[in-house]
Amino acid sequence: MTDTEATRRTGPSSLRLLAPGDAGWDAARATFNLLDDQRPDLIALPEDAAGVAAAVALARGEGLRVAAQSTGHGAACRHPLDGALLVNTSRMNAVAVDAGSRRVRVGAGARWRDVAPRLSDVGLAGLHGSSLGVGLAGYSLGGGVGWLTRRHGLQCNAVRAVELVTIDGEHLRADADHHPDLFWALRGGGGNFGIVTALEFDAVQVPELASGAYFFPVERTAEVLHTWSALLPSLPEALTTWVTVMHFPPSDEMPPEVRGRSFTILMAAHLGSEREARRLLRPLQELGPMRDTLGPQDPLALGALAMDPESPLPYRSTTALVDGLPGGAIAALAALSGVGSPLTLVQFRHVGGALSRRPDGAGARATLPGEILVFSLAIPIGPDTESIAALERLDDILAPLNVGEYPNLVEHPVDASRFFDAPTWARLREVKAAYDPADLVHGNHHVPTAAGG
Ligand SMILES: Cc1cc2nc3c(=O)[nH]c(=O)nc-3n(C[C@H](O)[C@H](O)[C@H](O)COP(=O)(O)OP(=O)(O)OC[C@H]3O[C@@H](n4cnc5c(N)ncnc54)[C@H](O)[C@@H]3O)c2cc1C
Repeated sequence: MTDTEATRRTGPSSLRLLAPGDAGWDAARATFNLLDDQRPDLIALPEDAAGVAAAVALARGEGLRVAAQSTGHGAACRHPLDGALLVNTSRMNAVAVDAGSRRVRVGAGARWRDVAPRLSDVGLAGLHGSSLGVGLAGYSLGGGVGWLTRRHGLQCNAVRAVELVTIDGEHLRADADHHPDLFWALRGGGGNFGIVTALEFDAVQVPELASGAYFFPVERTAEVLHTWSALLPSLPEALTTWVTVMHFPPSDEMPPEVRGRSFTILMAAHLGSEREARRLLRPLQELGPMRDTLGPQDPLALGALAMDPESPLPYRSTTALVDGLPGGAIAALAALSGVGSPLTLVQFRHVGGALSRRPDGAGARATLPGEILVFSLAIPIGPDTESIAALERLDDILAPLNVGEYPNLVEHPVDASRFFDAPTWARLREVKAAYDPADLVHGNHHVPTAAGG
């Protein structure tokens, strides 16, 4: 520990403060995307809600804005952190599971990997996404789309309570009965309303699960996408399939059977038997996958199904929601993502189902439009121009089909009003004005106050 850091620890014992140059500074400001270089003025590493309140009070005293980070997986959609104190909640990762009521309580620094194994052991699952390295906080505040959300809806609408420290230093619990407007805004409006200290949400029962993947040579992308698109209308909400065109890096982190190779992979998660899953997927099976891993699994297997990278990497990405993929788009997408493509991954997720229905008591993000969520990332090698051009080409192909965007996968700062209809956006701004009138809380996909900004 440096002298600066030691001096700064004279406040509450639950708050550790770092300034540029302190030991641990670079680790505390790091993000999942190595192309981000966020430089806040100060970083607080609280252990509990009292530490968060002390950090917020300090920021106010020093005239700094406040931003929060649990894992850094979603940092890229935030504006620069000059003049801000970053509250890094990674030490607040306690997890409590009540299997009987299916209620889970997590600290704001918990990752899905802190939760998923414990739920899986008792036949439950959370509505996590492709990677268990992602944090509960940013994922749940922004929406949350994963393997079981076609059946159960967005993770934000499985949230039952959010505890947070407001910019005034008050520690609140927002739920259906307390601060209901704030509770509504937090479920989809992101981390714009205060610093979250804990979340409570409902897990889902998974009495039976079949999951796995059919691997095809990348040269068969168009054929796989045609067959998959034609099949989608017949698939029940219990079955979620994604097609991922993946050029696996030659990294040791990759399983040997895929390392350095390219595949088009049909990934499937079915809340039912393997036999039923195979029946539903027959047209894809009849294409003759070169490798087939579909079988009965524990819920925990869903955390590894997408084969997401676990370690930070440099990348750029793009995303779109579409209703379907016409033949012309499939041909163009297959050509763009094929052998030698600068796009490391192009993923097509079947959404719709419960994601298109407004649940009772929904938050600000009630539904998602579209039937297919497209996401692509490129890892720039050498000069970045080739990967940027390929992502732009993907945007051009999808532009005529685009029916919306899913904010958690929009990984650069944008005007967040485009993610919401006008009444929802106006209400989010009113809640922001009520809880952060001076607009000091700096969440990803910024919601300004009703008054302006
Ligand atoms: C590898 C990878 C896989 C992904 N897979 C999926 C997926 O399958 N489905 C999906 O829906 N999304 C997915 N995402 C996107 C992910 O949901 C967002 O990036 C999300 O914001 C990450 O949350 P985090 O807490 O881990 O990130 P962080 O970067 O720590 O936080 C992101 C934002 O959340 C808010 N926030 C975090 N903590 C707090 C807090 N304590 N108080 C207030 N606000 C807070 C802040 O606005 C912050 O800027 C993925 C991202 C990556 C990098």
